[in-house]
Amino acid sequence: MSTAGTKLPVADSRSLRRYAVDLAKRHPRLLWSALGLHVLAAVAGLAAPRLLGGLVESVENGTTTGHVDRIILLLAGFLVLQTLLTRYARLVSQVLGEQVLAELREDFVENTLALPVGVVESAGSGDLLTRTGRDVDQLGWSVRWALPEWTIAVVTAVLTFAAAISVGWWVALPCLLGVPPLVIGLRWYLARAKDGYLRESASYSQINATLTETVEGARTVEALGLGQERVDAIDDDVRESYAAERYTLHLRTVFFPSMEISYLVPTVMTLLFGGYLYTQGSVSLGDVTAATLYVQMLIDPVDRVVAILDELQMGAASLARLLGVAQVPDDRSVSGRVPSGEAIAADDVRFSYVEGRDVLHGIDLTVGVGERIAMVGPSGAGKSTLGRLLAGIHPPRTGSVTVGGVGLVELPLGDLRGHVALVTQEHHVFVGTLRDNLALAAPPGAGEAEVRSALEAVDALDWADALPEGLDTVVGSGGRALSAAQAQQVALARLVLADPHTLVLDEATSLIDPRAARHLERSLAAVLEGRTVIAIAHRLFSAHDADRVAVVEDGRIAELGSHDELVAADGSYAALWRSWNGG
Ligand code: ADP
Repeated sequence: MSTAGTKLPVADSRSLRRYAVDLAKRHPRLLWSALGLHVLAAVAGLAAPRLLGGLVESVENGTTTGHVDRIILLLAGFLVLQTLLTRYARLVSQVLGEQVLAELREDFVENTLALPVGVVESAGSGDLLTRTGRDVDQLGWSVRWALPEWTIAVVTAVLTFAAAISVGWWVALPCLLGVPPLVIGLRWYLARAKDGYLRESASYSQINATLTETVEGARTVEALGLGQERVDAIDDDVRESYAAERYTLHLRTVFFPSMEISYLVPTVMTLLFGGYLYTQGSVSLGDVTAATLYVQMLIDPVDRVVAILDELQMGAASLARLLGVAQVPDDRSVSGRVPSGEAIAADDVRFSYVEGRDVLHGIDLTVGVGERIAMVGPSGAGKSTLGRLLAGIHPPRTGSVTVGGVGLVELPLGDLRGHVALVTQEHHVFVGTLRDNLALAAPPGAGEAEVRSALEAVDALDWADALPEGLDTVVGSGGRALSAAQAQQVALARLVLADPHTLVLDEATSLIDPRAARHLERSLAAVLEGRTVIAIAHRLFSAHDADRVAVVEDGRIAELGSHDELVAADGSYAALWRSWNGG
């Protein structure tokens, strides 16, 4: 089970703003036409109060039905115009939103794939899964819906206010009365909301992490009777999530009522103040009507501006978490140096998963080209860790692992896999055709012949050709299911295509069903043929056949030499060998 120790970073507000501005700058035309159309639509909507004010005025002064009909027709005309403009404004906004969202997703996938393996492991898959799932959804909602609606609301609010002021400067006074509760409430809320929502998302990540961990480690949980502990852990996570949700709910229960007050005050005051001015004879009845209607019309857009701010806050929190993924420092730095030769060497390698607790303490190991080295030692000694470092999955904390004199961390990932690859029992069949599954490991330019001969090398060509559509059969989740042995063969065929000169084998065949094992041993032997092999031996039997045996104990290489030398030296390997031989 992975430790969900370090969390992936979250981007700060500065980089968030920079990213948003960048994104907007990529689509100037769509952005400005959306904005322009929204402005026009809002203006068309503002004609009504003026026309109605005029109507009240003319009714007061005596009018004809013809005049009233004309005003009604005008009203209808503006309504149709507003509807049409709104339609196109929304269309353009949606197109823009979808494009921006697609780019966001692409950026996120790119950033995720660039994450150092070590970081993904220590952060746990739960956090990353929540970000790819919930945060992308939340952001999608914000970009598709909240952002355009908010823009519309802001535009409408500003224009409506302008229209209200155009009736007479006195209208500003009642409007101003609504500002203090609005500003105070908003500031109070915004100061707390982002952290509140971040905490909420983090709590979902935690639930996800605990659940995935429990599911991934189900066997261990069952074997060790950890069921109750896992249930307790999940209960704790749910409690935290509940507390986080309650907190944000509390924020809203204070915030929304304060908003309501700030909306009602201006409308009421406009009516009262306007009525007073009318009795003083300084404004007309039409003006009071228009002003009151405008101020009342202001409530809706202002309310939407504020309410959607909430939604946008959640979107911003999600975006911060998505962009945070890009801020993980890369643990590799490509130097451009080219290895001179194929020899792998570890020099004074130290490594820790958890800061301050080294699990490898100064490992030196030079592997000859074409050599077979078996690594043995007690469980937890650091064999797998060393294997992963020799394959360049983790960079050493200090010291170096080199191929042909160049550090593995200096090689571009694509090149690295052409030098050394790690073979474990974890293998993945991607959704796609069998051919695609193999091609992802193939060097550019590899064609049908290479793919087929790779399958042949691992004894898989027969069943591959027997698939309904041969190499073009869709496999993986949702497609045709491959057996565990077949999946392993696919993984091995990928290795043949990637053609690394050195392989690190970690429990490569230990979980295979025994009926398939013999077949796979043959496939594996074909893959190992002519390559340098560092095998983490779980059966001493294979150590016996290796050129050299490295005994790993407590993060150090305790003994190193051929089987015969080590038996003669009478150290811990000799003892292991004797006990295994029952002697
Ligand atoms: P071996 O392969 O010899 O059984 P490992 O390399 O798996 O040993 O483990 C060496 C030490 O590193 C052990 O103490 C183990 O608990 C620790 N370790 C292994 N993987 C991780 C990990 N992902 N995070 C933290 N500690 C780890």
